[in-house]
Amino acid sequence: MSLWIWVATIQVVLIKIKNFHQYIVGEAIMPMKSIIRLKKSISNNERIAFGKLRKDVIKPGICTLCGACASTCESISIVDKLPKLIDKCDGCGVCYNQCPRTITTEEDLIGKIRHAYCAKTTIPELKGQDGGIITSVLAYALEEGLIDCAIVTTRSEEEPWKPVPIVAKTYEDLLSSSGSIYSHSMTMEALMSAIKQDMRSIAFVGPSCNIDAVTKMQKSPYGFLRLFMRANIVKMGLFCMDTFYYEGIKEFVESKNIKLEDIDAMKIRKGKFEFYMNNEIRDFSLNEFDSYRSSSCKFCTDMAAEKSDISFGGIGTPNGWTTVLARSGIGYEIFNEAVDSGYIKSRVLEKNEMEKVLNLAKMKKVQMYPITKRK
Ligand SMILES: Cc1cc2nc3c(=O)[nH]c(=O)nc-3n(C[C@H](O)[C@H](O)[C@H](O)COP(=O)(O)OP(=O)(O)OC[C@H]3O[C@@H](n4cnc5c(N)ncnc54)[C@H](O)[C@@H]3O)c2cc1C
Ligand code: SF4
Ligand code: SF4
Ligand code: SF4
Repeated sequence: MSLWIWVATIQVVLIKIKNFHQYIVGEAIMPMKSIIRLKKSISNNERIAFGKLRKDVIKPGICTLCGACASTCESISIVDKLPKLIDKCDGCGVCYNQCPRTITTEEDLIGKIRHAYCAKTTIPELKGQDGGIITSVLAYALEEGLIDCAIVTTRSEEEPWKPVPIVAKTYEDLLSSSGSIYSHSMTMEALMSAIKQDMRSIAFVGPSCNIDAVTKMQKSPYGFLRLFMRANIVKMGLFCMDTFYYEGIKEFVESKNIKLEDIDAMKIRKGKFEFYMNNEIRDFSLNEFDSYRSSSCKFCTDMAAEKSDISFGGIGTPNGWTTVLARSGIGYEIFNEAVDSGYIKSRVLEKNEMEKVLNLAKMKKVQMYPITKRK
């Protein structure tokens, strides 16, 4: 090889080493094209600028000073122990999407899902909370012998609207438990009772805090191995933003001259608590129930029951339909078999409907920030 070829080769290698060094120490600026591609892939074309990072993370005081934003953009610098904009912001969204304190993907908001549906029961006598889908899936699973029983919640006969968890073994039990009761139900008590009765295949219905209790129990039996090894449990989660103390709801409605026993259904939607009676609907601002809200709900960030096999809610879909998020293989199959067997009609959840689910989930995820500052 001639001297000139040696010199040229060494120069190329040196340039490559220099570029590599620049790259690993973060001096190389990402080409604009890559930034635009990244922006499109991670932010769904929404324009996100530094102002959003300032508003959501830096101002509320939840920035961890990890430096990810400053190291990915030359326009940001850490000044007085806080990220500051020191040059023009192009609104590429990289700093926001890189920040460990922001919630930016669908999975961050609602957990892993396989498919999302909008569904309604075909059972004429069933009056569900929304589309009657939970009760329909349970009715199908019981009839087919897929489950021995279901852990559901019904209303106390002695104290109307007080939640009573039960081990449902018949179609009639299931029908009596449809609809939502907006107070904590001690569902684990009924689950333990079913396991002790040697029920082997159990469907369990509850909001995320209940689903988490089952998940923990499955993972760490702590001396109850002989009981928990016996049961297969399919976890059917409820979307949930709040529950209220039973005594609080009672006190409130009685102060408005409503008797609990006259209420046929309760619904929470669009910031209102609605009470359905014979020929009348009375509604009140949800803010009026603030003092009755269960304190645990203020520290809860899982709206969509992320650890369930399948979850259900009213948000997203039109009135009288249920939003269904199929997560595990069992959740997916049990729902689709109920559809194929004629218990349920269903269609794919539309994009704008899913947006509503994501927005509600986001409200729950970020609600902790203003109220949990340690003194
Ligand atoms: C406390 C609570 C808060 C909720 N908050 C929201 C919300 O903010 N946004 C939203 O979109 N959806 C919310 N939901 C879910 C929604 O109200 C419906 O349950 C869901 O859409 C399914 O409707 P469905 O007609 O298919 O169910 P149905 O066929 O009517 O079946 C409802 C099932 O829920 C069970 N259940 C009722 N009350 C309780 C309880 N307290 N604890 C455990 N299980 C219970 C019943 O036993 C029954 O199995 C909430 C539900 C509850 C119970
Ligand atoms: S240009 Fe910089 S500051 Fe502006 S959004 Fe992009 S990464 Fe953030
Ligand atoms: S990336 Fe987020 S947490 Fe890290 S320094 Fe920037 S704002 Fe703070
Ligand atoms: S808001 Fe959370 S803690 Fe409260 S009932 Fe719902 S899932 Fe449970």
